[in-house]
Amino acid sequence: MAYDDQNIFAKILRAEAPAFKVYEDEFSLAFMDVMPQVDGHTLVIPKDATENLHEADPEILGLTIVNVQKVAAAVKKAFDSPGIMIAQLNGKAAGQTVFHLHFHILPRKDGLDASMHAREMADFTLLEDHAARIRAAL
Ligand code: 5GP
Repeated sequence: MAYDDQNIFAKILRAEAPAFKVYEDEFSLAFMDVMPQVDGHTLVIPKDATENLHEADPEILGLTIVNVQKVAAAVKKAFDSPGIMIAQLNGKAAGQTVFHLHFHILPRKDGLDASMHAREMADFTLLEDHAARIRAAL
């Protein structure tokens, strides 16, 4: 399938849609998931127009995963989280809903379940507060 540049993350990258940004460099962007599965649910995406892992340029993928590591450490610190789950879905059959490569960073605590897909939009004031906490921990 050809990359669809009308997907929501492509729009965020072009500043055509808003996002609660956490970190940005030449290669990638990190921002809050608008329908978080848990508090602190953050996404990291490459700026490259890439649909999924299989199609990613290995060099860009390497730079992106280094930023996943960096942002995950900040999320862990900001949310005082003993566990961090990294999730990455490829293809509709795997549950991918936005067809621009992305890594989910999810704080996890024992006994607190995170469903695979949240359906409720979070409060924007809360998301900005969470983004600020993560930025401060970077
Ligand atoms: P996937 O199911 O493709 O692995 O994950 C897509 C993620 O994007 C979901 O967790 C969903 O909540 C999130 N999402 C969908 N639309 C938007 C949006 O407009 N802004 C942000 N920040 N996240 C979104």
